[in-house]
Amino acid sequence: MQLLIATTNHKKAGEMAQILGTALDGISLLTLADLPPAPEVDETFQENARLKALAALRFSGMPSIADDGGLVIDALGGAPGVKSHRFLGEHTSFQDKMARILEMMVDVPEDLRTCRFQCAVAVALPDGTLLEYEGRCEGRIAYAPAGTHGFGYDPLFYLPSRACCMAELPPEEKHKLSHRGQALGLAVKGLKQVLQEMPIETQEFRSPGS
Ligand code: IMP
Repeated sequence: MQLLIATTNHKKAGEMAQILGTALDGISLLTLADLPPAPEVDETFQENARLKALAALRFSGMPSIADDGGLVIDALGGAPGVKSHRFLGEHTSFQDKMARILEMMVDVPEDLRTCRFQCAVAVALPDGTLLEYEGRCEGRIAYAPAGTHGFGYDPLFYLPSRACCMAELPPEEKHKLSHRGQALGLAVKGLKQVLQEMPIETQEFRSPGS
């Protein structure tokens, strides 16, 4: 049998082959570098949300809801995207992350500064039901951060419809139009429908040990 090691990184593949080679006698190992170029595996908001919800359900036995999201900037090819939190390193302040984005976009004119916040939500139920939703909020990258509400990239996210940045909106206003507000709004509707269709006796999900 042949076993394909799904990496093109020679050093990593070398280490994996050293470890696997001695344990898997008679199996010949290939890497992706031995095949024609394979499509990139993209991390997605939806997959990340699903993984988090399923992991929480597996861990707790309780109905679980998880989200994953980020800022997608068209002029930067979708960056920071799924890496929004990790952009420039997890411990870099958002002030520095935003300053770097402004530097990268210094020559980008207003009509090309389009961006969106995206949010994926997954709800995992103990009976195997998985509900998935998405929310998007369109905006533009501002020329300077503004506002003190919210978190993350909110001060840089200009909302043409409100003529202000997301961080200038109080939380209730943000939730009415935000990516997370939209995705969670759909999740609430979906959950209510599932609960309505579920026999009363199975509606009370039990936590482990109860
Ligand atoms: P999360 O997966 O929703 O936690 O988002 C990952 C990262 O995306 C966060 O750490 C923020 O950097 C950014 N992000 C997501 N949602 C927002 C938001 O509503 N405002 C500002 N930044 C956000």
